[in-house]
Amino acid sequence: MAKRGIESLGELKGKRVLVRVDFNVPLKRGADGSQQVADDYRLEAALPTIRRLSEAGARVVLMSHLGRPKGEPKPELSLAPVAARLAELLGSPVAFCPETVGAAAQAAASELAEGGVLVVENLRFHKGEKKNEPEFAAALAALGELYVNDAFGVCHRAHASVAAVTEHLPSACGLLIEREVEALGPLRDGSAARPLVVVLGGAKLGTKIPVLEALIPRTDAILVGGGMAYTLLKAQGKPIGGSKVEDDLLDTATQILESARTRAREQGCQLVLPHDHVVAAGLDDLTGYDVVEEVPSNRMALDVGPASLAEFVQVLRTAKTVFWNGPLGVFEQPPFHLGTHYVASFLAGRQGDCRTIVGGGDSAAAARQLGLADAMDWVSTGGGASLLYVQGEDLPGLDALPEA
Ligand code: ADP
Ligand code: MG
Repeated sequence: MAKRGIESLGELKGKRVLVRVDFNVPLKRGADGSQQVADDYRLEAALPTIRRLSEAGARVVLMSHLGRPKGEPKPELSLAPVAARLAELLGSPVAFCPETVGAAAQAAASELAEGGVLVVENLRFHKGEKKNEPEFAAALAALGELYVNDAFGVCHRAHASVAAVTEHLPSACGLLIEREVEALGPLRDGSAARPLVVVLGGAKLGTKIPVLEALIPRTDAILVGGGMAYTLLKAQGKPIGGSKVEDDLLDTATQILESARTRAREQGCQLVLPHDHVVAAGLDDLTGYDVVEEVPSNRMALDVGPASLAEFVQVLRTAKTVFWNGPLGVFEQPPFHLGTHYVASFLAGRQGDCRTIVGGGDSAAAARQLGLADAMDWVSTGGGASLLYVQGEDLPGLDALPEA
């Protein structure tokens, strides 16, 4: 499923190229009270495409959403601080237009020098963006002569800046989307090197059921940790104390366990659940911090225990491909990051021998927070989009781009 790339757009010199990037970054207040970018990751990920276009002499017009302004201007969700940070990362000036579309934005785009870069204001200040409105898409298209989509993280949404806009301009995918598709494609189409092991964690079983169901038939082992494990363990009748449970999903959990058992019998896919747990009275209360096999009623499980981690590592040792989605414990709060840290470190040590692909917003944040992102083969910039893509769902933003 190769999409037309930037090279398909022909001569770029002097052309206004409208680029959809994903600059939906966390912001923080600086010492002087101004808004600043708290995490550069998504800006870094967009640099190769921006540089490629700029070096080819294009006039680069960047558009993105930021946060949830609900279709109205919200000064605290302006992209101005993002444009400022982008200029630092690029080492060259970046213009900013406080309008997204209209005369001022068109003028700013036309005034760019060859190789110049402009950021227009937050797409979601306009209701037409999320509604995929043809008028809004036409107004966006008026900013450029060519269109590039490099916002993998929003491709699962049919929004104007990724979907309807492609009806107006010759379109192509950017370098980030190319790399995402290259990295995640083998998981989607079943061509990943075997054994393929999936490490699945995170808060909620509900959000992971589709990926579990999609992957059980084409995976060699699934290692489960995180909060989602406790709904499965409760469905097995195990004591889980005050751990997070989705009681409405107990029947589904039972079905998943049954289908995993059948699959294990027929084709040897193992589903491994934790059998020991790091517990405490609560996230902010280390009373009773311990490693146990049965979670007492007045404790919650907040991380995978060491015996389970040792078992996980035995399985991971044999893997040729690992897809990791969802932290194994409450990694944001030490000491409950240890299980996630241990598994991530083990995978980092196998780089070159086993391909590790990380998907999911919090898993990616965990890998970065632990300083291990560079030791993974690919850390997807798409949270929901990467999961849906791996499951085999069609992403409207990708479907809208022409095939190579
Ligand atoms: P991702 O974004 O990578 O798909 P999720 O959003 O599914 O991951 O889950 C991430 C959250 O899961 C984190 O905030 C983490 O604290 C939480 N979590 C992990 N383990 C547990 C646990 N045992 N109990 C409660 N929350 C957990
Ligand atoms: Mg998440």
